[in-house]
Amino acid sequence: MVEVIETGERMFCQKCGKENKEGAAFCNACGAPLIPVITSSKDKVIQAKVKTKRDQIEGISQTGPILACLVGLLFLFLGFLFNFLILIFGLILLGIAIWWSSGRENERKKLENEIKELQAEME
Ligand SMILES: [Zn+2]
Repeated sequence: MVEVIETGERMFCQKCGKENKEGAAFCNACGAPLIPVITSSKDKVIQAKVKTKRDQIEGISQTGPILACLVGLLFLFLGFLFNFLILIFGLILLGIAIWWSSGRENERKKLENEIKELQAEME
């Protein structure tokens, strides 16, 4: 169930954090049903945004990069045994895995910083 935090005339979707028109039944950004919760607290809005970002962090998976890394190492090993070209392919795959993994890590750090900024606003 998606709740909307309502403060005065501003309503925020708790799923995606987007602002919606007062009295809207569905979020105009993600389409989630909006259930108004009356509150005058600015902190609630921030908490909802923090929660959205925490969910996004949880959604960041390193499974793909780890698999690419393992396959890259396998090709590297096979390359040593059989063929130089397979070795090159393994190196390329490892490079992609590292690039992929660091991209996700940066995304996670960015979200964590945004959470810190939001929490600083509450104090
Ligand atoms: Zn939404």
